Amino acid sequence: MYKVKEMFYTLQGEGAQAGRPAVFCRFTGCNLWSGRERDRAKSVCDFCDTDFIGTDGQNGAKFSTALELADKIASFWPTPQLGRSVEGVPYVVFTGGEPALQLDEALTSALKQRNFEIAIETNGTKQLPAGIDWICVSPKADAEVIIECGQELKLVYPQSLAMPQRFEQLNFEHFYLQPMAQDNANHTKATIEYCMAHPRWKLSLQTHKITGID
Ligand code: SF4
Repeated sequence: MYKVKEMFYTLQGEGAQAGRPAVFCRFTGCNLWSGRERDRAKSVCDFCDTDFIGTDGQNGAKFSTALELADKIASFWPTPQLGRSVEGVPYVVFTGGEPALQLDEALTSALKQRNFEIAIETNGTKQLPAGIDWICVSPKADAEVIIECGQELKLVYPQSLAMPQRFEQLNFEHFYLQPMAQDNANHTKATIEYCMAHPRWKLSLQTHKITGID
C-alpha cells in the first residue's frame, strides 16, 4: 500500500534540475516529524513548511500496487509514452515527507517500464531502492545522513546543527544552499554571502514560489 499526499504535473523549482517538467509525487509521512503542530517543538526540523499528513491533497490517494501508482504517475505526462523521444524524457520526482519510507524497487521498476527517469528528494537518513537516476539529499539538523553519494546535496541554510562544512566531503555532483523560508530575506542574503565566500556551494532558489507555479 502506497499513501500519496498529492501528485501533479509541474516544473521542478529547485536545484540543478530547476525548470524541468516533472510529475511530482509527494508521499505521506516523515521520519523526522509527525507533521502535527503539537509535536513541532520536539521534531528534528522545526522549520518544516510541508504538509505531508494524510492523502487529502491534489490527486492524493492510496494505491494498492506499484503498477497502479506507476500508471497514475504516467497519466500526468503530457505526451504519449514514446520513450526517449524528442518530446523529452518522462520525469518523476518523489518527495515528501520522506519518500524513502515508501519508494521501493517494485515502483522504480514499474516506472522504468514506462520509460520514466526517477528522482528523489530525501533527507538522506533511509536506505534507497535501486533504480533512482537523480538522488537529491537534503540533510536536516543533527539527523545522521547515510546516503553519502548522489547527484545533488541541497542544504537548507542556515541550520545551526547542519552547517555546510559537515557535508563537503560527501560524494555529490552538485552542492546547493537554499535559504530557509522563514525570514527569507535575511537568510537569502546570508546564503549568497556564504556561496560567494565558499564557491563550491551554489545558490538554490524556490523558483516555483517566485514565479507562482504550483
Ligand atoms: S525531513 Fe523534510 S518533510 Fe520531513 S520534517 Fe524535515 S523538512 Fe519536513
